[in-house]
Amino acid sequence: MNEKIALFTIFGGTGDLAKRKLYPSLFRLYRKGILANHFAVIGTARRDWSDDHYREIVRETIKELNPTTEEAEEFSSHFYYQSHNVNDSEHYDTLKKLSDSLNTKYELGGNHIYYLAMAPQFFGTIVQHLKSQEILTENGFDRLVIEKPFGSDYDSAYQLNEEIRAVFPEKDIFRIDHYLGKEMIQNISAIRFANNIFESQWNNRYIDNVQITFAESLGVEDRGGYYDHSGALKDMVQNHILQVVALLAMEPPVAFSEAEIRAEKVKALQAIRLYSEKEALENFVRGQYGQGKLDEQQFVSYREEPNVDEQSQTETFVAGKFLIDNFRWSGVPFYIRTGKRLTEKGTRINIVFKQVPVNVFKDDIDKCGEKTDLPPNVLTIYIQPTEGFSMTLNGKEIGQGFTTTPVKLDYRHSAETTGNSPEAYEKLLLDSLNGDGTNFSHWDEVAQSWRIVDIIRHAWDKTSVDFPNYEAGSMGPDAAFDLLNQDGFTWDWQP
Ligand code: NAD
Repeated sequence: MNEKIALFTIFGGTGDLAKRKLYPSLFRLYRKGILANHFAVIGTARRDWSDDHYREIVRETIKELNPTTEEAEEFSSHFYYQSHNVNDSEHYDTLKKLSDSLNTKYELGGNHIYYLAMAPQFFGTIVQHLKSQEILTENGFDRLVIEKPFGSDYDSAYQLNEEIRAVFPEKDIFRIDHYLGKEMIQNISAIRFANNIFESQWNNRYIDNVQITFAESLGVEDRGGYYDHSGALKDMVQNHILQVVALLAMEPPVAFSEAEIRAEKVKALQAIRLYSEKEALENFVRGQYGQGKLDEQQFVSYREEPNVDEQSQTETFVAGKFLIDNFRWSGVPFYIRTGKRLTEKGTRINIVFKQVPVNVFKDDIDKCGEKTDLPPNVLTIYIQPTEGFSMTLNGKEIGQGFTTTPVKLDYRHSAETTGNSPEAYEKLLLDSLNGDGTNFSHWDEVAQSWRIVDIIRHAWDKTSVDFPNYEAGSMGPDAAFDLLNQDGFTWDWQP
């Protein structure tokens, strides 16, 4: 692959995201020769670090990728540290001098990627300073990569977007949703648009319901302070889950290009029914975990976690039903659920197909003396931790008589394949180097997602729930199961 040429300025260079994700991903690109001689990284944060100390930290973060000593030295020599308070205009002048000198030293042609790996309240001020202090270059490209969350509701997201768009055009803004970098999320399009057996049936004539689960077994860990102000609705549904709904529901794009895919995703999001607040309360349920036990391990309740309010009304679980009012999906519920401290970690999508028009086996008796009920065909897409897909079908049980039995066609990527495949952040960094925004969220998508989520949030803020309402280690509150049961469905959760 061709070498890419750019200067990365990472705001929040001493932070968790930079260390856990960005530096290892940059190293993977370096190892593949995509980054070689013509790249440099400036890490900025408040701490007073030297270049040497910064390089030592960078080497530490790539240790588990087993670089040779020469590789680690050579890679980290491209890293420079600049102590910087993002609110201080003078610091940007120092930053500009360093940027200019690295641009010359590494012959970077003015190509610049600004990565904002910091708390969102700083995004606006950083972007304004990049313009006012004339750090943006006339040559090459200037691209902005921005972490989630993008606003905390529609109004704040709109305000932030105005600030950013005053400096960067939409084509140069890369709003990260790291789920869009995941292999199996990208595979949704391959499954749909490269297999006629699925695409021909991908509509309300053949599909009964769609189920999307983003389950986490962990609690809030050390993010209690942040999470208590956010909650599962804003942390997961507004971004990751609605992006997945859009990929599943969109019309086939005319071409597999950024503009065409985006146009179809936006249309799908716009077709999601905007509930009244009353309807939102009927179609969405929230939960918060109490104490619980799983595999002999005892867990504290959410309200007992560090930096969480003892009376917190923040939800750690959401389940809900989206309805999509267009020709393809009218009448097909898209159920979603996500939560912390659930039974196991797993992100999965179930496409549950309708039954055959007539069950000709209905009078057959199975081994237990019960009449045979045909389970539905289910296409399951496994996003993580295992990656792959399976299809449940009905076959005949071997032996005398005629009893049907479910069989499963199951394909999982091997641990070796997934181990060697690029990590989400590596893919997204390469996309930003290529100027390809397909796997990032466009403003139109972000805006519509906030409109959908704000209604639910407002409805919830006016009412309270008796929290905690599910045990740590369970799959959430009873209401999440009732949501499907009342429509005649059940969550399908197979290993
Ligand atoms: P962090 O708290 O670990 O790091 C924040 C960084 O900002 C530090 O380097 C700190 O020194 C710097 N900083 C704070 N105030 C500053 C100031 N006034 N001037 C200059 N620098 C300042 O946070 P993080 O976990 O790395 O997260 C960064 C962003 O990425 C957040 O928006 C977060 O929501 C998002 N994010 C993080 C993760 C993750 O896994 N950590 C995952 C997804 C999204």
